[in-house]
Formats: sequence, C-alpha cells, structure tokens
Amino acid sequence: MHLLPEQVKTRFTKDCRMVFFTGAGISAESGVPTFRDKDGYWSKYDPMILASVDGFRQDPELVWEWYLYRREKIISVEPNPAHFGITRFQSIFNEAIVATQNVDDLHNRAGNREVYELHGNIFATKCLECGMALDMPPNFDLKTHGIPQCECGGMARPGVVWFGESLPRETLTRVFELTRRADVFFSIGTSTEVYPAAQLPFEAKNHGAVVIEINPNRTPFSVHADLVLQQPSGEILPQLFEELQFALA
Ligand SMILES: [Zn+2]
Repeated sequence: MHLLPEQVKTRFTKDCRMVFFTGAGISAESGVPTFRDKDGYWSKYDPMILASVDGFRQDPELVWEWYLYRREKIISVEPNPAHFGITRFQSIFNEAIVATQNVDDLHNRAGNREVYELHGNIFATKCLECGMALDMPPNFDLKTHGIPQCECGGMARPGVVWFGESLPRETLTRVFELTRRADVFFSIGTSTEVYPAAQLPFEAKNHGAVVIEINPNRTPFSVHADLVLQQPSGEILPQLFEELQFALA
C-alpha cells in the first residue's frame, strides 16, 4: 500500500529542500517520559519550579537532582526507527534538516545531521549568569561537590530552555529561514500548540511547501496539512523512505 498520493510524491526530488520538525511524540516512541508524566517521587513537584529560572534560584540542588535523574533516564533509552529513518532520508536527499523541540539528543544519537535544537539539549550545561556553555560530564556528584561554577562565579545550569525563557534567537531565525524555503515539510509528533515553534508548519505551508503531518493524534494543524498520517512515526517514516527510494531510483 502506498502512503503518498501522486501530487505529494512529485514534490520529492533529490534536490528538494526538506525540513523534519519534531516534537515530544517521536521521543515518546523511544520511551522518553514526557515532561508532564513525572513518575513517583517527582510527581509532587510543580514543573514551574523544576523548569524555570525562579525555581532554580530558589532551590538549585532540587532542580539539578531532577535534571540528573532525567539525564539518566534518557541515556537508558535508544533512538527509534523514526530517528533512524531521518538518517536514511538524509543519505539520499541533498538538503534535509531537523528542527526539534526535544532536548533528549536522540536525533544526534541516531546520526542525524544538521539538527537545530530549539529548546536546547538536556546534556548541555551553561552558566546561569553569563550564559557561557560549560564543558561538563552529563553526570556529576551533586552531594559531594555541590553545583559546579562558571569562571564568572555563576552557577552551572542545564542547557535547556525553561518556562518564561525565549528560544535561542539565532537557531530560531535560521529554522524559520529554512522553513520558508522548504519544498517538503514534515511535522512529526508535535502538538503544534506551543508558539513560536508551532508557527513553523503554517509558515512552511504559507510559503508553498507540501506539509505532511505524522501524528497518532490530530492537532490544530491537521486541517491545514496536505497529508495527515495518523500513525506512529517509527512505522511511517521507514515506509515512506522505501516508497521514495523506489520512486527516485
Ligand atoms: Zn558565567
């Protein structure tokens, strides 16, 4: 069975410009817990405390404990066939980039190239005060050594975007540029509800891209998509790749 109608398939050429825009759904397929379903011990804490500058200033040890715990969880899961599917697309299409709202590093671990991380990376660490990236191992002994410091004296904090913070400007600008000139735009496992990133599929559509949504659930964008595939991306992307590889061969 073919997934792509003819008028969509013709948009795929070796030199077409492609964007893979991904959200929590693609990670959930790997077993990464979504931010809101915190298990056991952590369920009593408010996400606004665990993921905001104010919360961090109030209780930096608590926030670091939560992030070290999440890093450990994420290290124990693997990229899934959707992540590896993107690597395969990138092996035959000349211009295919990834813009992700996920912080779990799974795109990089699957060998994806040109990954733009709109919300940062959970394994990155930066200075709370000056913002400088700090080169630190993903795990450290909080109890013995306390929170590491930047040379400016500021505390180390996780390199992710927290509630109330802006997305990294250069990354966002670049992703919007690439989206406007895209021929094919995939919106994968994202609820398209959190702005400004949620604007991207609309931006692609308004600038002439064919937009394919892959998500088991319908989203506010679904009615605007050229094609909606309501199944897990780990099933769909490898199938699409096979179909296109055959068509382009
Ligand atoms: Zn600093």
